[in-house]
Amino acid sequence: MSGLFRTAWLRRALQLAPQALVALAAWVSLGALSSAQATPSDAATERRLAELLARAYDHPQQVLGELKQLEPTQADATAYVRARVAVLQGELEPALQWARQNPQQARQRLVQGLVHERQGRNAEAAQAAGQVIAELEPACKDWKGPAEGPLSCDFRPLHDAQRLLARTLKRAGQLSPALQAVTAALALSRAGQDDETAARDLAEAADLHELLEQPELARRALTDALRQAAQTPRTLAAVKSYEAALAVRRNDRETQRKALEEALALARQADLPRTHALLQAALADFYLHADQPEQARQLAEAALPLLQRFGEPRALRTARHNLAVALVKLRAFDAARAQIALLEQMPVGEDDTRSRAEELRELGEAWTAVGLAKEALAHYHAERRLTLDVQQRAREAVLAELRAKYDADQQKAKVELLRRERAVQDQTLANQSMARKVTGIGAVLLGLCAVIAVLALARMRKAHLRLRANQALLQVLSERDPLTQLANRRHFLAAMQARGAEPLTGGLLMLDIDHFKRINDGHGHGAGDQVIQAIAKRLQRTLREGDLLVRWGGEEFLIMAPSLKPAHVQLLADRLLIAVADAPVSIGAEQQLRVTISIGFVCFPLPPAGLSLHWERAVNWADLALYAAKHRGRNRAVGITEAQAEDEEAQARIEADFEGAALAARIKLAQVNGPLQLGSTQPST
Ligand code: GH3
Ligand code: MG
Ligand code: MG
Repeated sequence: MSGLFRTAWLRRALQLAPQALVALAAWVSLGALSSAQATPSDAATERRLAELLARAYDHPQQVLGELKQLEPTQADATAYVRARVAVLQGELEPALQWARQNPQQARQRLVQGLVHERQGRNAEAAQAAGQVIAELEPACKDWKGPAEGPLSCDFRPLHDAQRLLARTLKRAGQLSPALQAVTAALALSRAGQDDETAARDLAEAADLHELLEQPELARRALTDALRQAAQTPRTLAAVKSYEAALAVRRNDRETQRKALEEALALARQADLPRTHALLQAALADFYLHADQPEQARQLAEAALPLLQRFGEPRALRTARHNLAVALVKLRAFDAARAQIALLEQMPVGEDDTRSRAEELRELGEAWTAVGLAKEALAHYHAERRLTLDVQQRAREAVLAELRAKYDADQQKAKVELLRRERAVQDQTLANQSMARKVTGIGAVLLGLCAVIAVLALARMRKAHLRLRANQALLQVLSERDPLTQLANRRHFLAAMQARGAEPLTGGLLMLDIDHFKRINDGHGHGAGDQVIQAIAKRLQRTLREGDLLVRWGGEEFLIMAPSLKPAHVQLLADRLLIAVADAPVSIGAEQQLRVTISIGFVCFPLPPAGLSLHWERAVNWADLALYAAKHRGRNRAVGITEAQAEDEEAQARIEADFEGAALAARIKLAQVNGPLQLGSTQPST
């Protein structure tokens, strides 16, 4: 093959391929676009149909007969197999007709792809294969391995699409992607536990490794393929023909011959007429190039009618050509001319021009070898014309390419020139305005310095303020109870510390929800929380600005009302009892609960001597009063309104025996009853 031919052919293949390959990549990455494939028939039927399809390669008529018997129940599947058989036989029209009935379905698309392939339309074939893969692959990707059971997806059409894709990529010279597709196919046939198909996939992988100049990987894949195929003559013959092809690439003629002979013997034993004929043609080619024309003639003659019958146009053409060359070499000139005439009637596809030229050259050489100059010359001329024609076309293609590139380059250069002109103009303008600015800037700069200094100062001040505000916010957050948003105990302590020695005034009230445990136990902790929140709101609403409401802990609250007159503290306690107990608290959408509180309070300054207490002691006294309120039956307030306890010792004594101090009139207690009870403010004894 000459360098020119190779590149011209490759370029043509690649010119076709890219759009298809890009489209295909998009398809594959997008995943399934069309509707799900019809659910595959059960696995046994699938296997049976696959076996029929495999057998159809060598026995199409027999398989078509068997398909008729399957027909009524498996109409769809058998129609598919029939279309595949038609493609195998080169009957493309009926196959296409079937495929066009339902062109969106994966199997139909696959058949279209195979037809494109037979027609030499590589790009279209690749696109069809890609679409089938995109459609069927997602279902197979979910399958996690043999442990999960048999493959859940329709793996055979997907497998065949991967192999079709691999062949199209290989033809376009994209060997690595082709190997990827074959590897994907192999994974599928292994997952589907289809040893025969796996062996063929391995053989194809070996061929691609060889082409990729990875001889060790090629050798290993081929060994695996041979081992896997060992049990099945049909598959072993196919793998051996791969072995022969690999040997050709290594120029190892002896291995080639041996593999072909073994394959031929297998095909004969196993009654595989099509395989047999193809192997004969291959062996004929071998013998012709080994300068053994008689063997070549015999083999080619035997193969021809079968190749014709099975619809193998390319192999048929090669066999006939080889026969013609063998006949020339054997000096059977009339027979040779007859074959050459037949050869000239056979159609030559666009992609076959190269091999046609090669044929002509080989024939020319054969005629020369036997000394028939006239025939030789005729063939050389024909070859020359064809070659010139091909070269001319190649030149035209190159020229067209160059012209397109030149046009594009010129366009680009023009745009670039304009761009530069514009840039120069812009730069000049910029320079002028810069010069003007520089003079102004000197003056402005001075002023600017002053402004910047002022701004910087202002900014610093602002930042400082912001920092302070943030600190204050943090403080507020840390002193707030998250459930009720009220101040917490920490806030109260901070407020007390801030007061320093300033005596307490007004009222200090300690509040506790009555029987709160029952609420928690009977309605859940969440309901308890809701009650705490509701009570907090009611308390807050009852207070005035300047009063401090603290969630002291659990269901306890503390109120400090510093501006209240001592006499009014009882009134506040009364309002608080009513605010809580007057209306039930809603929990959830349905339920309502009656809730009461008890209150203990102290008024400051305490008559008669206008006593004030340290805040800790004051809280303690309010707590003692609260305890008294609970003790007296809850839903009420008990408050200390007078106390005679000038010194520390007297105060401690009151704390030690609160009720006793009340009885001894060292303190005076007032009681305010809640709204559910009769009576109102009752000073106690
Ligand atoms: P008493 O009338 O004597 O006050 O009876 P009580 O059931 O209210 O008794 P006590 O004050 O001892 O019980 C308070 C309960 O409140 C105990 C605790 O489990 C519960 N509690 C404390 N904090 C919370 C809170 O934030 N949410 C809820 N739902 N329950 C709390
Ligand atoms: Mg409590
Ligand atoms: Mg309580």
